[in-house]
Amino acid sequence: MDVVVVGRGMFGSAAARHLAATGAQVLAVGPVAGDPVPGSGDAVFSSHDDEARLTRLQDRDPRWAEVTARALAGYRDLEVASGIEFHHPVGCLIASRPGGDGRSPDPIPQLSARGLTHDLYQPGDRGWAERWPRIDFPATHAVAYEPGPAGYIRPKRLIAAQETLTTQFGGRLLTDTVVGVQALGDTDGYSVVTAAGHRVRTPNVVLATGAFTNFNDLLETPVELELKTEVVVLGEVDAADAEELRAYPTVKYLNDGDVLDAIYMTPPVDYPDGRTCIKMGANIVLDTNPTDLSTVQDWFRTDTDHDHLSLLEPALQALWPDVAFTSVRTKPCIITYTADRFPLIVERRPGLVVATAGNGGGAKGADAWGSMAAGLLRERLSRC
Ligand SMILES: Cc1cc2nc3c(=O)[nH]c(=O)nc-3n(C[C@H](O)[C@H](O)[C@H](O)COP(=O)(O)OP(=O)(O)OC[C@H]3O[C@@H](n4cnc5c(N)ncnc54)[C@H](O)[C@@H]3O)c2cc1C
Repeated sequence: MDVVVVGRGMFGSAAARHLAATGAQVLAVGPVAGDPVPGSGDAVFSSHDDEARLTRLQDRDPRWAEVTARALAGYRDLEVASGIEFHHPVGCLIASRPGGDGRSPDPIPQLSARGLTHDLYQPGDRGWAERWPRIDFPATHAVAYEPGPAGYIRPKRLIAAQETLTTQFGGRLLTDTVVGVQALGDTDGYSVVTAAGHRVRTPNVVLATGAFTNFNDLLETPVELELKTEVVVLGEVDAADAEELRAYPTVKYLNDGDVLDAIYMTPPVDYPDGRTCIKMGANIVLDTNPTDLSTVQDWFRTDTDHDHLSLLEPALQALWPDVAFTSVRTKPCIITYTADRFPLIVERRPGLVVATAGNGGGAKGADAWGSMAAGLLRERLSRC
């Protein structure tokens, strides 16, 4: 085995595919989101266990914009090669008060600055409502429409596409949780131990373990990460609204709120339980920063309807004034941040790469982040 990729999430599945494509013998180990690993409980959770993630070219940070654009340019090839569609280029509506909301700069000028095609509606111009009459923004806000390829991706399908290709390249997948990575001296590689009792010796490891990177004895010394709780609200729509609203764009909305801010939203998407839901998320005053494993595990199991629904539901309804949601519920998740708000893709010690911290926006560019992680091992693997 040339390399073990720990974590079969957004970054890990991409890294494994890029590594396998070079001819390396790859083993990817991790639970499949939503499917607890038999025998090991649900000790680790995924930040992509959902049906949609926004994607767009607009970004305030040129480094992010460049990486995301690279990934976006490759979506179609990945879909064709794997036979799995995951990209819905419905576009993205960006709404902001001119000048921003005091927390974040106005994202709309970034569209022109980056030379991105868009339609612009100044505050008070409700021209956008002619195309999307069911959605609403305040008259104080400018609204810009970034067309496809902006839109959303289905994260679990993207992972399935990556893993289909990984196995086609000869890579192997193991549904298990890693409970230890030990360095075998300075040059003898690593021993990777799983909850089900597997012990794999390998010269190279990629830790793509998201919010769980500093837990389960994966690293001798922790990397600097800040975890933040995040809650989304899922508003179920009836069949007629699902049909009408499905092709609506995604939304990024700087709403100036004291209780919640930095709203993002997807149009109706089908969920595995049979419901079709509009999803909305935001930063909320109730957000916390858990630091230990049991608090993070408890958070993923928390019934967040109890205290978050009353804050999120009015914001969702305000965006869709005449939509009668047939059910509304919330779902907890975790965002993993670095101090510089850029993903951590680094070789920590020879042959041990850490690829984590999507900083709330890692899904759309995951293929490129995974490729960067794989690239850090290229020279070592060429010597194998
Ligand atoms: C509510 C929410 C909304 C978001 N919206 C967007 C969006 O619209 N657009 C966007 O681009 N990004 C978005 N993001 C961010 C995006 O989902 C993350 O950046 C992305 O999932 C990070 O990928 P990852 O591989 O680092 O982590 P994950 O996707 O969490 O994958 C890590 C994987 O590692 C596994 N793992 C952990 N520990 C172990 C272990 N010990 N052994 C084996 N496996 C392990 C986990 O089970 C998991 O599957 C959002 C995040 C959240 C929480």
